[in-house]
Amino acid sequence: MNEQSNRLLIAGNWKANGSLAMIEDWGAGFKAPEGLDALVFAPAPYLRHAADRIAGAAVGAQDLDDVDDGAHTGCVTARMLADIGCRWTLAGHSERRQAGESGVLVGAKLARAAAAGISVVLCVGESQAEREAGRLEEVLRSQLDEGLPAAWPAGVEIAIAYEPVWAIGTGLAASAADAQQAGAWIRSCLAGRGADGKIRILYGGSVKAGNAAGFVGQPDIDGLLIGGASLEAGSFSAICAEVLA
Ligand code: PEP
Repeated sequence: MNEQSNRLLIAGNWKANGSLAMIEDWGAGFKAPEGLDALVFAPAPYLRHAADRIAGAAVGAQDLDDVDDGAHTGCVTARMLADIGCRWTLAGHSERRQAGESGVLVGAKLARAAAAGISVVLCVGESQAEREAGRLEEVLRSQLDEGLPAAWPAGVEIAIAYEPVWAIGTGLAASAADAQQAGAWIRSCLAGRGADGKIRILYGGSVKAGNAAGFVGQPDIDGLLIGGASLEAGSFSAICAEVLA
């Protein structure tokens, strides 16, 4: 963990999973850790319920739309998220990018969230083909350039999640050394941008209890973004305990 960062940020991404019953179980089973920041990204329809039922973890959105309130059927605006007390969102998850979302659109969404006072975890990461072509650094820099605002917004946090696409949901986590190499590159790309020393960099991709501590032991990894292993409070709690041990 970067010495300038305050605390580890351990975040779960439930993706399109969850139910009222699941949230009851999750809230009852989660052991709120002291000494780190815990966060879960819940599906939009469940945001308020999850925030009411889960103690010891913030609840964030997985996405928002790049529109103002108005004639945009089906859209979720930054103002709506802020209105229900949502203080975090993801932007640029690879599953959104694979669905056709451009880096420029990711940046527009991030700017809208930040303007509404919502902190953002911006996801970046290379595909297997990009990695094999030696394009890791180029891809990460481009996703950061497109995603991050020119002027750093006051009062909100922007964290970066390094999530190699080939490691998400595959069981093939990056090595801690690969995560550190990418984290150091991201840190160098952030130099000169607002509050660069305080930007938390997370690793995501097949994290589970057993490999979590290895990632946060790296100097440029300040937390984790966890998909599958965040769906049960027990496994998410076990990861929190592991990184604090
Ligand atoms: C994710 O969806 O952001 C993720 C990292 O998923 P998993 O932990 O399941 O690989």
